[in-house]
Amino acid sequence: MNYRTFGKDKRKVSVLGFGCMRLPTTSGKTDGTVIEKEAKRMIRRGIDAGINYIDTAKVYHECRSESIVGNILKDGYREKVLIATKLPLWDIKNKNDADRIFDEQRRDLKTDHIDVYLLHNIQRAYWNIIQKNNLIEWGRKKKESGEISYFGFSFHDSYDFFVDVIDEYDGWDFCQLQYNYVCESVQAGRLGINYAAKRGLSIVIMEPLLGGCLANPLGKMAELFEWNQHEGRNYQPVDLALRWIWDQPELSVVLSGMSTYKQLEQNLNIASRKDYGKLNKEEHNFIMHLQRVYDNSLPIKCTKCRYCMPCPDGVDIPLNFELYNNHFVMTQMKKDAAINKIMYNSMPKNQKAVSCVKCGKCEKICPQKLPIRDYMKTIQSAFNS
Ligand code: SF4
Ligand code: SF4
Repeated sequence: MNYRTFGKDKRKVSVLGFGCMRLPTTSGKTDGTVIEKEAKRMIRRGIDAGINYIDTAKVYHECRSESIVGNILKDGYREKVLIATKLPLWDIKNKNDADRIFDEQRRDLKTDHIDVYLLHNIQRAYWNIIQKNNLIEWGRKKKESGEISYFGFSFHDSYDFFVDVIDEYDGWDFCQLQYNYVCESVQAGRLGINYAAKRGLSIVIMEPLLGGCLANPLGKMAELFEWNQHEGRNYQPVDLALRWIWDQPELSVVLSGMSTYKQLEQNLNIASRKDYGKLNKEEHNFIMHLQRVYDNSLPIKCTKCRYCMPCPDGVDIPLNFELYNNHFVMTQMKKDAAINKIMYNSMPKNQKAVSCVKCGKCEKICPQKLPIRDYMKTIQSAFNS
């Protein structure tokens, strides 16, 4: 395992962090059906191989992730890692809620002390909650009292707002950003990383594979990989995507939400290589091609974060988008796209795009600011035609 530094005291952290929002489940979704035995095998294997940063949150896996992680970290594993978890801003209704939630998290994680604590998913819509409840001051005090070691935030909004958030408080230790080679200018993006680094914040990266999309590239991206293989260049999607991030030395930990043992082993291999943090010129050029192709390919840039869920009317928003994206790319590639229509038709009616009543609730929450209601109309006509 390779290591970098984190926080103002330059704590040694593994370049690969274990994200606990996509643990193995019986349903195959990010719901509460976690296969605990397998999650335990994977997380402990990761720690044994040198991972020392475990990232969870109150809301992951229908609020089960923290207690599952707490159980897995028994038997001496807790002491080997930094635990990162997050305060769900949308659940803060009054000044006592932050303390209550924090205590629940310590209980579930079976620890008095949370190493890395984040205000979860800062975006403009939640800024008044932070201010009204003095949550930055609350975090400062938690750090002062030693209940947390590092205080920061995860972020899903524009670069301009990101600068405002950083400038609001000199005491931020770190920020957590969505970043990968097809999202270089999305949200805070590369500019945000430069700004955070200049202000002395450590930077944690999430969604390095865009919810798995970059691990299994489709359409023209897949064709590019194939073509390069014919030319004798054996580029691997996950390897390139992770090393593209690690090629940027100001980034500390890259969180990967691993769902299978195979994914874990693959990531461990890459994170342990001597050249893990270097892309050569040819590889950079190849990534630039992929970026161009991607921008022109998937019509809906949904990361499957599921912040929009549950929809009050039961629509499975990310699943509809996934089916439509697959349908779109396969049709473009002149491949048989019927499977997507079949899958759409086999969904319960309330989960389909057709059941969207256009209330707009999801659009207020979506970090990607997707016009979800318009997309639902498009999906409905695509699959009903
Ligand atoms: S706009 Fe449609 S998909 Fe979004 S929350 Fe409302 S009903 Fe659900
Ligand atoms: S629609 Fe937006 S909020 Fe919902 S899963 Fe996709 S990116 Fe996340």
